[in-house]
Amino acid sequence: MTTTASRANLLDLSPADAERVLRDFAESIGEQAYRGSQTVRHLWSAPAASFQAMTDLPLAFRTALESAFTIPRLALAAEQRSVDGTRKFLFRLHDGQTIETVAIPDGDRVTLCISSQAGCALQCSFCATGLMGFYRNLLPSEIAGQVRELALLAEPVRPTNIVFMGMGEPLMNWKAVQVVLTILNDPKGFAIGARHITVSTVGVLPGIQALAKRPEQFRLAISVHAPSDELRRQLMPVNIKFPLEQVIDAAASFSRRVTFEYVMLGGVNDQPAHAVALSALAKRCGAFVNLIPLHPGGAGSYTPTSPEGIKRFAGAIARQGVEVAVRKSRGTDIAAACGQLRVERLRRRAPRSPNQDGEVEVA
Ligand code: SF4
Repeated sequence: MTTTASRANLLDLSPADAERVLRDFAESIGEQAYRGSQTVRHLWSAPAASFQAMTDLPLAFRTALESAFTIPRLALAAEQRSVDGTRKFLFRLHDGQTIETVAIPDGDRVTLCISSQAGCALQCSFCATGLMGFYRNLLPSEIAGQVRELALLAEPVRPTNIVFMGMGEPLMNWKAVQVVLTILNDPKGFAIGARHITVSTVGVLPGIQALAKRPEQFRLAISVHAPSDELRRQLMPVNIKFPLEQVIDAAASFSRRVTFEYVMLGGVNDQPAHAVALSALAKRCGAFVNLIPLHPGGAGSYTPTSPEGIKRFAGAIARQGVEVAVRKSRGTDIAAACGQLRVERLRRRAPRSPNQDGEVEVA
């Protein structure tokens, strides 16, 4: 009997690679090559829960596929629904790790916020995921699998937009994320337009350069959160390795539109001088500024800036000639900030370092 370990996971491959492998496989067992192409649509665009569920394929071919390949599922461990329609999913992976995915409906759009790592090594002081430490990088099948699982629900969720803003730093898992970007965008994958796919990073420079080299129009969001090195170092230890100046330079040389993410921390980064300094950085790279109200239940002892304070801060940025928006708070009744559901489940055990459970892989 073939073991799971010896069977290739088709969901870790790009659609083109999967098709090549499947066509070769079909021919190797005396089937028509087109059966391989027929199988690819069941990986992402019309996903099937199992090989046996691919009922347009002959039974013998389905059984042969089953003995040679896997299409692993993520187990849905919990789901929460907010009164505003936001849905949060906790998936359990084969090794017991759990990751979160948030679906945010807004009119005709559904934005899916996906995770790229189990935990995160970067320990931003305001972030629930940072509090739990790093466990491991996710595989392509576990990242794109979040989108796939929602398409397999009894009432499927089909996102129009994807943001890599869930747990983890996507550009520290570039090896997997680059495959996932292809799966998301490819017409034989999920066929989501590149302009509707945003990679959000704290500013991992090699990763930004790698993303910039991709020909597709993927969007880049930079988690700025402080307009000076001094303050940013306090909030985000990663600023020591990738200082703000260099991150802004990298954003300025990114040929496509960049967004700055800026979480509003009462009395910390929300003063008029911060607005002026942030505007100057945004002007340097033509960035759009997204102000994020602090979600209750995150990490640290921060207090949210008041709605009036956020409005004033936004006004100060707009007066500098920079485009700015305040992100709507969604799912506040269901712990929808990144990492919160998992953190609640783990009951706040001690943070771990990257070296305890594996290496963080930079682009
Ligand atoms: S804000 Fe993002 S990069 Fe920072 S600790 Fe949280 S998940 Fe990691």
